[in-house]
Amino acid sequence: MGVSDTDLVMVCAGDLAGQLRGKAVPRRNLEARRDTGIGWTPTNVFITSFGPIAPSPWGALGDLLIRPDFAALVDLDLADWGVRESFVLGDILELDGTHWSCCPRGQLKAAAARLEERHGLTIQAAFEHEFHYSGAEAQPGLGYALRALRRMGDFPDRLMAVLDRAGLTLDTFMPEYGPGQCEVTVGHQPALRAADEASILRELVRATARGLGARASFAPILDPDGVGNGVHVHFSLLDSNGEPVNHDGAQPFGVSRTAGAFLAGVLRHLPDFLALTAPAVVSYLRLTPNRWSAAYTNLGNQDREAALRICPVFGPREDSHVARAFHFEFRAADAAATPHLVLAALINAGIAGLDADLPTPTVTEADLSTLDPAQVADLGCQRLPQSLAEALDRLAASDWARAAFGETLVDTFLRHKRTEIEVMEGLSEAEMCGVYGRGY
Ligand code: GLU
Ligand code: MG
Repeated sequence: MGVSDTDLVMVCAGDLAGQLRGKAVPRRNLEARRDTGIGWTPTNVFITSFGPIAPSPWGALGDLLIRPDFAALVDLDLADWGVRESFVLGDILELDGTHWSCCPRGQLKAAAARLEERHGLTIQAAFEHEFHYSGAEAQPGLGYALRALRRMGDFPDRLMAVLDRAGLTLDTFMPEYGPGQCEVTVGHQPALRAADEASILRELVRATARGLGARASFAPILDPDGVGNGVHVHFSLLDSNGEPVNHDGAQPFGVSRTAGAFLAGVLRHLPDFLALTAPAVVSYLRLTPNRWSAAYTNLGNQDREAALRICPVFGPREDSHVARAFHFEFRAADAAATPHLVLAALINAGIAGLDADLPTPTVTEADLSTLDPAQVADLGCQRLPQSLAEALDRLAASDWARAAFGETLVDTFLRHKRTEIEVMEGLSEAEMCGVYGRGY
């Protein structure tokens, strides 16, 4: 049928539940919405992923708008594949055009601007996503297997084509370790674009799966005894000339003083912001030792159980190549979190480390779960909060978080997520995984 000017384009924004929500307008009216946006209601931020709306201090009062950012427009008409996706990401603004404090995209823009103003630095990031695809016969033992890829039929190739047409830089696809689990990685981008692409990628994975009569779930974990679906954020810092500042061959493990202070800030504040990056009740089933996720506030060298990992440099050993390729990975995030808030949290915490000129954290090379708590403490590390309730209490008590994200964001987040905990009460771990599996 082709594209008609009455076809709908959804103007949407990421929210605290990790969902894209908004309103759709006929294509012929989209341009007129460039400045005026679409009307939005503060209380919408309390819509949980499971139905109930958390108690809102605003009730039926108040008006906001979502203003589309046409740089984040996805417009795909791949009807043969059942992928007809037209949506544009936007910012949730007050009526005077200033950012609403609960807009994750606004939080990220503010954090990135602070990093640039205070320290002359920008951040590049790439989000690595794991998810489960329902459309192939799942079988244990086929992690990374060619047979697992083949069983997924058209899905992986279609997905690459869909992401390519949406303007993402293709990198890798893999049949991950868990039965039915996949991972997709894309190229790095400046912070805002990287987070936008993470939001876009999740929706396009879902859309591609749906076009094949299947489903993709990004829930943090689908089986309490299985592996989780992580979101790993690869990142690096650049100076005002766009030169990377992460590597210094004279420093231990090559971590420059600038990067070391940033990373130290991230680890210092990680227990306080973890609820923002791992915001589901079941996130804490994933963040346990021996699952290759993250369980401690450590900087690990090439360690896939570290909250922050120093990534290996592949290819030539020349200084210029190493300086460009050397980077870090944050592993304590999942797709119940809005990517913009994940990056905002990393940047805000990194700024705190830079402000205080914190020393580079001790780089760990051991399995911390085999050490006793005193040994872990000697390394300057601590166990991450072990439940969403505990992580929320840490967030609530953090003066740093209230200053960095603002009181409104913190209080709104706490209300929303404490309601989510109530929704899950009485469910077994397996039942919760099922509910989150559908919710994400
Ligand atoms: N599935 C693991 C996680 O939950 C990550 C495995 C890997 O290193 O890719 O983070
Ligand atoms: Mg993986």
